Amino acid sequence: MKSAKSFAEASAEAAAAPGAAPRVVRPPWQKFAVAVRRSRIDGHGVFAADPVPPRLKIGEIRGEAISVAEARIRATRTDRVMIVELSSRRAIDFSKSTDPMRFTNHSCKPNARLVIRNGRVEFYARQAIVPGQEITVDYGETHHDGKLACRCGSPQCRGAL
Ligand SMILES: [Zn+2]
Repeated sequence: MKSAKSFAEASAEAAAAPGAAPRVVRPPWQKFAVAVRRSRIDGHGVFAADPVPPRLKIGEIRGEAISVAEARIRATRTDRVMIVELSSRRAIDFSKSTDPMRFTNHSCKPNARLVIRNGRVEFYARQAIVPGQEITVDYGETHHDGKLACRCGSPQCRGAL
């Protein structure tokens, strides 16, 4: 799935600045409170602060709608690219986003799923999530092509991303 692959790239970039405290602001489209802090999976992760019932929307990431042509130009100007290509023509640049969900880590047995719709990356609970639990999604196929070791820790772990 192209969209999931692009999200994985964005998330990996978000975690790329070691030690940097992430700038996070709770936006109106964040339905349940979350906290961004160090994760044993990778870098920073997103942790539930509210109980989340199954199937409900947790929140989303919004960015700036741009053309793919503009996205390609921007990608050459910065080493911290957070761009999701929605189609051959449309893209979203999340570089300036402070939405907490952009730090969501991958798990091979995730408790949430991501949906790309109307230029937004939305997160839905797959099951009940309790406060303190890390929120995870399955990135699907990523640009790592199975060469990055997965540390999600689930018994069903595929071992690599
Ligand atoms: Zn895994």
